Amino acid sequence: MNSLLEVKRLTKRFRGIAASDGLDLKVTRGELHAIIGPNGAGKSTLIGQLSGEITPDSGSIAFDGVDITHMPIHKRALLGVARSYQITSVFEELTALQNVALAVQARSGHSFGVLGEVAQEWKLLEPASQAIEAVGLSESMNHPAALLAHGARRQLELAMVLAMRPKILLLDEPMAGTSPTESKQIVGLLKKLRGTMTIVLIEHDLQAVFELADRISVLVYGKVIASGHPDEIRSDPRVIEAYIGE
Ligand code: ADP
Ligand code: MG
Repeated sequence: MNSLLEVKRLTKRFRGIAASDGLDLKVTRGELHAIIGPNGAGKSTLIGQLSGEITPDSGSIAFDGVDITHMPIHKRALLGVARSYQITSVFEELTALQNVALAVQARSGHSFGVLGEVAQEWKLLEPASQAIEAVGLSESMNHPAALLAHGARRQLELAMVLAMRPKILLLDEPMAGTSPTESKQIVGLLKKLRGTMTIVLIEHDLQAVFELADRISVLVYGKVIASGHPDEIRSDPRVIEAYIGE
C-alpha cells in the first residue's frame, strides 16, 4: 500500500454547514501534497480532523494502515502525525532553543527531568539545535520567545514540530502573516524537507504551491474536486472555474 494517509467519506458539520462533505483524499508516502481551495472550503477543518483536534461526524482516516479516526491527539503524535504548534504552546519566557528542547522532550514520551539539569540537557539540546538550524533560526536561538518577530515565531513553531521527527507534517498556511523574505525562507525550508518526510501543506500562495508540490488537491465546499500533479491541476477547467480563475 502506497498511501500513507487515506481519508474516506469524511463528513463534519458545524451548525448544519458541511465543512467536510464526504471528503476523499489519498496522500502518498514521501510526497509533498498541497491542498488549495477558497476561504471557507474546509481546509483547516480537514487538518483539525487529521491531527485529532476535531472529531468527524462520519467517515474514516487511516494512517500508515491504522484507523486513527477516533484516536486522541497524543496517540496520533506517537504514531508520527504532527501539525504546527499553535502560538499558545510557546513558552514566552524560555529561549527559542529551550522551547524546541521541550518539544524534543515531549517526543521522547518520558521526562528527562527539569530543563537545566546539565547531565540530561545534551540529549535534548543536540537535536533541538539541529532543528533550529534547519529552520534558519540559529541567530535567535538564545532569545526569549517573547522577543521573536512574527516570522521568527513561525520558524520556531516549525522547529518544534520538526523536533518531533514526524512521519507526516501537517502545515496550515505556514506563510500566513510573514514578510516576503520570511516566506522565501519557509519555501526554502520546505524544499529541503521535501522528500525527507510526507508533508500536507495548505497554502494560499499559489506560486509557492506550484513550486513545491508533488501533488495538489483542490478542496471546494468540503469536497476534493480534483487531485493531481501540478500541471494537471493548473490546466483542469473545474479547478480554474472553482478557484484559480476566481
Ligand atoms: P478554510 O480553512 O478552508 O478557510 P475552514 O475549515 O476554516 O475553511 O471552515 C470551513 C467552514 O466551516 C466555514 O464555513 C467555517 O465558517 C466553518 N467552521 C469552521 N470551524 C468552525 C467552528 N468551530 N464552528 C462553526 N463553524 C466552523
Ligand atoms: Mg483555514
